[in-house]
Amino acid sequence: MNLTTETAKQWLLAAGRDMQENKGYLSELDQAIGDGDHGHNMARGFAEVEKKIASKTYDDVGSVVKDASMTIISKVGGAAGPLYGTAFLKASGVWKGKAEVTDEEFAEGLKAAIDGIAQRGKSEQGQKTMLDVWIPVLQEAEKGNIEAEQLAQTAKEAMEKTEGIEAKKGRAAYLGERSIGHLDPGAYSSYLLFEALVEAIEAGGEANG
Ligand code: ADP
Ligand code: MG
Repeated sequence: MNLTTETAKQWLLAAGRDMQENKGYLSELDQAIGDGDHGHNMARGFAEVEKKIASKTYDDVGSVVKDASMTIISKVGGAAGPLYGTAFLKASGVWKGKAEVTDEEFAEGLKAAIDGIAQRGKSEQGQKTMLDVWIPVLQEAEKGNIEAEQLAQTAKEAMEKTEGIEAKKGRAAYLGERSIGHLDPGAYSSYLLFEALVEAIEAGGEANG
């Protein structure tokens, strides 16, 4: 994968478009096992990210991702805002000063993001949260399967698996067993995030070739 500063920016912008397009669906998922605001939270957060980064020039992957993290932390409420914000902040630390990140550094950034989510959310894999998507994606990346399409496919399968498990964290946990049979909204938005990476890499490839 070729994650340059420009590709990282395109990644965040593509994620914003995907969140906007799926706003209704994300909120519908959250309606079933939460309070119905996840689509609104994500679409609003990424719209603010777009405002912040679209016309700015960046020298390294870390600074564009850091701008996104600060924006999401300050503008997005709910549980997911601070969690995504922390994820991006931790990844930005790893990618700081790098005009392009290697596959290994990409995986390191993912790992830092996951540690950030887990620490802030006091959560772990298997609790029907966004981590159930991020962790399998990291595991795939660590195996060396770092192509964006492969990561997005892994994210999709992992997201689908959240349907069958019981929520142990977040609002959905109040439902206990009744949360089974519904996809986790944060897992779905995380899948969209990795899907957006494919769009950004493809767009970058076209621009370069
Ligand atoms: P809220 O639950 O405050 O309304 P959102 O609806 O925006 O916030 O986000 C809900 C999503 O956040 C969940 O679907 C889940 O993926 C994620 N989430 C909630 N709590 C945690 C946690 N402790 N750790 C990891 N992810 C969490
Ligand atoms: Mg909610």
